[in-house]
Amino acid sequence: MSKASKPKKKSIESSNRTSISEQLPEEVEREQEEQEEQEEQEEQDVQQTPSKHGTLWVIAVPIGNLEDITLRALRILKSVPLIACEDTRTTKQLLQLLGVQAPQLIACHDHNEEQQIQRFCQHLESGKDMALVSDAGTPTLSDPGFKIVRGVSGQGLKVVPIPGACAAITALCASGLPTNQFEFIGFLSAKDQARRKQLELYKENTNTLIFYESPHRLLDFLADAVGVFGAQREAVIARELTKKFEEFRRGTLGEHLKNPGIIRGEIVVLIAGANKGSQELSQQDTETLARHALQQGMTPTEAAKWLSREANLNRKEAYALILTIVEHKK
Ligand code: SAM
Repeated sequence: MSKASKPKKKSIESSNRTSISEQLPEEVEREQEEQEEQEEQEEQDVQQTPSKHGTLWVIAVPIGNLEDITLRALRILKSVPLIACEDTRTTKQLLQLLGVQAPQLIACHDHNEEQQIQRFCQHLESGKDMALVSDAGTPTLSDPGFKIVRGVSGQGLKVVPIPGACAAITALCASGLPTNQFEFIGFLSAKDQARRKQLELYKENTNTLIFYESPHRLLDFLADAVGVFGAQREAVIARELTKKFEEFRRGTLGEHLKNPGIIRGEIVVLIAGANKGSQELSQQDTETLARHALQQGMTPTEAAKWLSREANLNRKEAYALILTIVEHKK
């Protein structure tokens, strides 16, 4: 439909006035511009959908604060007959809170994503749209959905993203760490040795590094990070973003390990990139790790074993340092 032939919708602002003649010419012009922009956006959405086939809308939802849903996301969530989600109960609750009547919901997770692709392709080929959401934030980022997006787009069907909240970007933009170059890493392995190996890969990386971490693994993560990057490396712990107890803790890795603050809720850890030539662990870094091991209640032998692995020391040296600290404390 051409713009000229479209009936103009009345905006909320103009409907509050008794007569259109009360409006200043600039206001009328601005309202018309806004109206046209909205119509263009709606047209764009329609044009992006091939006439015969439906579209898979990949929709970001809030990461805590319900107001962080976009108007576009709301409009599309209200219009689709099917939503693929992580957990149907969580999505049902979210839709209810957003005032959206739940359409058909299908749970997708790492184990069944592949089997669902054909089903979703058939749905889209029949001309119907569908949405993909996760429990929180942007789907496919440390969340399921990648295989669906790949499968659906691989069949030549349209996939359109609706951007919104993402914990990594939310944390980065207020962290105070450089944003010009960053690397999203997400969750590392839950296993000690594997996690340590993964961190080693980023030892000399000069980009700001973004990790997701669960509260019960935070201290282990920080200890490994001190072992790899050194206690002086700048880092930010961003917790409970967009929620009531949102917190940004800024400092060095050593300071965070010594005093991590409240270890609860959802956490993003950001680590500053490497400065060239500062890769070796200092004596101070090694001592920070040794103290941490003893504070965790390890025996001197356990602490020495742990320290030799974390700080890449031989066992004898590690044991000597642990004993010095224990004796010094006495
Ligand atoms: N897809 C999501 C996104 O776009 O950020 C991430 C989902 S991932 C399964 C969940 C992890 O993201 C949490 O363990 C935490 O590390 C991070 N996260 C999610 N919401 C958060 C929040 N409100 N504050 C801090 N971190 C959050």
